[in-house]
Amino acid sequence: MFLKQLNIYGFKSFAEKTELEFVPGVTAVVGPNGSGKSNVTDALRWVLGEQSAKSLRGGTMEDIIFAGSDARKPLNYAEVSIILDNQGGKLPIDYNEVSVKRRVFRTGESEFFINDNPCRLRDIVGLFTDSGLGREAFSIISQGKVDQILNSKPEERRTIFEEAAGVLKYKQRKKKTEEK
Ligand code: ATP
Ligand code: MG
Repeated sequence: MFLKQLNIYGFKSFAEKTELEFVPGVTAVVGPNGSGKSNVTDALRWVLGEQSAKSLRGGTMEDIIFAGSDARKPLNYAEVSIILDNQGGKLPIDYNEVSVKRRVFRTGESEFFINDNPCRLRDIVGLFTDSGLGREAFSIISQGKVDQILNSKPEERRTIFEEAAGVLKYKQRKKKTEEK
């Protein structure tokens, strides 16, 4: 599985439709301080289901919508979509290519899509659990994350290993069943 494309519109500093294409191998994003490098990874984490505004370096979810600049008016919504190559079948969905899209409006309303079909946030989170790309996963290591992992309690750190081992999904299902 690899990330083929990331499309960003209205998310943080991305006022214009921006398409980033990736090929297998290493891609480095370079630029001056404050030019939006970290916003690229924030966009990726958000479309993968991140729900904490704080971890996206904002106060509320509205803070991720382009707030305007001297030359541009603020936008009313933010939209991020990704296209993943799923030829190895790592994602539990019967498609070689999977697209995921997330939109949020200033009114607070959200929309989610998997392969252009409307879905719930929970479906997106479920799709990525145990794939290595999930919210608790290890594939995105942001600034400060290494310290956080080293300083966390063993039980908290365990979640990362469980995701890597692919057992998190079953643990979450068990918990849900026990709640019923
Ligand atoms: P550094 O090299 O310092 O880590 P960076 O390239 O990672 O910088 P980012 O943190 O990605 O930079 O981008 C910060 C910029 O994004 C700031 O200029 C900030 O004003 C802008 N920004 C963040 N949220 C919004 C928003 N909602 N609307 C407009 N601009 C925003
Ligand atoms: Mg940065």
